[in-house]
Parts: sequence; C-alpha cells; structure tokens
Amino acid sequence: MKFAVFGNPIEQSRSPDIHHGFAKQFDLQISYERMLVPRHQFNQHVQAFFADPEAVGINVTLPFKEDAYKLVDMLDESAKHVGAVNTIFRIDDQLVGYNTDGLGLVDDLVQQKLLLPGANVLLLGAGGAAKGALHSLITTKTNHIHVVNRTIDKAESIIHMSSDETNHTGLSASCYQSIPTMPFDLVINATSLSLQGVAPVLPKFIWDNVEGVYDMVYGSEPTIFMQKAAAKGVAHISDGLGMLVYQAAEAFRIWTGLEPNSEQILTHLRQRLQKQQ
Ligand code: NAP
Repeated sequence: MKFAVFGNPIEQSRSPDIHHGFAKQFDLQISYERMLVPRHQFNQHVQAFFADPEAVGINVTLPFKEDAYKLVDMLDESAKHVGAVNTIFRIDDQLVGYNTDGLGLVDDLVQQKLLLPGANVLLLGAGGAAKGALHSLITTKTNHIHVVNRTIDKAESIIHMSSDETNHTGLSASCYQSIPTMPFDLVINATSLSLQGVAPVLPKFIWDNVEGVYDMVYGSEPTIFMQKAAAKGVAHISDGLGMLVYQAAEAFRIWTGLEPNSEQILTHLRQRLQKQQ
C-alpha cells in the first residue's frame, strides 16, 4: 500500500513517521513519502501518484488543501463544510476528499480533558483550521463558542455557516476589540500567529476564568501564547501535537479501517521533539 503527503514546503512534515508508526502496530507493509510539489502543479502530481495501482491515499498540507478540495470527485461532509481537503482516499476509481483536522482537535481536547460538557470556548482565528475546529466543536456539548478574528467578516461567515447547519444556539463572532465579557473556560488559538512568534492580544478579563489554553502550533518549545497563558496562571496548557497525531489517526482509519494507538505515537513524537531542544 502506497501513501504520501503533498505540500510545499514538506521537509518538516512528521506525517511519514506517524503513519509508519501506525502501520507497524498492525504489521502492515506500507510506503509513505513526502512529496514536494511545485505551486500550480498539484493536480498533475496527484494524478501521477494515483496512476500507480498500489496508491491508496494521500494527505494534503499547505498550500494545497483548497486545490485538493477542487480536484476530488467526491467530498465527505467534513470537507464540504470546511472547503478544504487534507485527506484523499481512492475508492474504486474515484478520489474522495475528507477533512480530519477538526476531529483531530476534538479527539485531543477530549483525551486531555480540556473540553468539558457545558464549556464556553473562545476560538481565535477563522481560517481553514478554525473552520474545521468549529465544525467538530459544535457536535460536542459546549455551551457557547465565540469566534474572534482580525477580519470580522470571516468570523461571522463561519458562524452563520455553522448556525445554518446545526441547532447550536450558543454561537457568536466578533473582532478582538469586542469579545463579549463572559467566563471562557477554554481558549483555542487557531491563528497562524504562533508561527510568527507572536501571541494574540486578548482583553484582561479572559484570564480571570480560563482553565485551558490550546495552541494548534507545536514545536520543541512552548509557543509565545502558551508561555503567556502559563504566566497568567492557566492550569492546563497544550500545543497542537496531539491534534496532528489524531487527525492522522482518522486518515489512517479512513484508508485502512484500522484503529491505531495514537497515544503511543504521540509519546514517541513528544520525546523526539524534546530531544531537539
Ligand atoms: P489560515 O487559513 O491561513 O488562517 C490564518 C488565521 O490566522 C486567520 O484567521 C488569520 O486572520 C489569522 N492571522 C494571521 N495573521 C494574523 C495577525 N497578524 N493578527 C491576527 N490574526 C492573524 O491558516 P490555517 O490553515 O487556518 O492554520 C492556522 C494555524 O493552525 C497554523 O498555525 C497551522 O500551523 C495550525 N494548524 C495545525 C494543525 C495541527 O495538526 N496541529 C492542523 C492545521 C493547522 P485573518 O482572517 O484576519 O487573516
């Protein structure tokens, strides 16, 4: 069975390690490669990959998730909602697109007991990752989800899309200057600010109640936002490494029907990251 992750850049991707780790748990022989794809050549490279009868599926990372959305023959509900595809599975001669990011996030939050029933969640950002997160978060027993984004139209648009599809009544959106004064239990950073070494600026009252902070970015050091949360005394702080592993586990399940042990791989990856410090 042949798999790959397509992106640009791609050398930083940990997906091959994760999927080889999953396959080893079942004594499955797979190949999983990193594919550096030149911009504007995504479709040709995907078609060339699937010309091989051994090719089963691919993961797609930046900047090709929207290209993948347009390319596939069929879309799963998650990808349809998010407008982006991070997993493609060949079923017969059809390419089917999925988005497993939101499920990966929720699985990690639940595993870490960061998302408790009745929680008020502040979601920072309204890009692809935030859309996937919201799509999965509304299926959990949250009380309220407030989306805040620099570009307010995008925050409002993802809230309206989700309100139309569910009967979740506790959804709202604003820019950073107008976050409602309510007690938030969990703050999720789905912006790309941590990649720039910058923390989102939040009003002071947020830190009075918040018990959990989750940053989707991961690395060998805690992000600036995680460091800020620690300085404010937040009890439970996590990076996004678990989200990465759980979204991969969902892709592996889609491709093979097998349920991998994600915790084992997460522990291994965490140890490797710490050695890089
Ligand atoms: P994206 O679509 O480019 O969205 C970026 C978001 O960051 C937007 O909401 C954008 O606001 C906001 N932003 C960027 N610069 C900002 C600034 N200076 N001030 C305020 N807001 C700013 O990216 P994405 O795909 O959603 O990814 C977001 C993050 O999640 C990335 O860091 C990515 O690495 C991470 N991620 C992690 C995983 C995982 O498995 N752990 C999976 C997917 C993504 P505007 O709309 O106003 O531009």
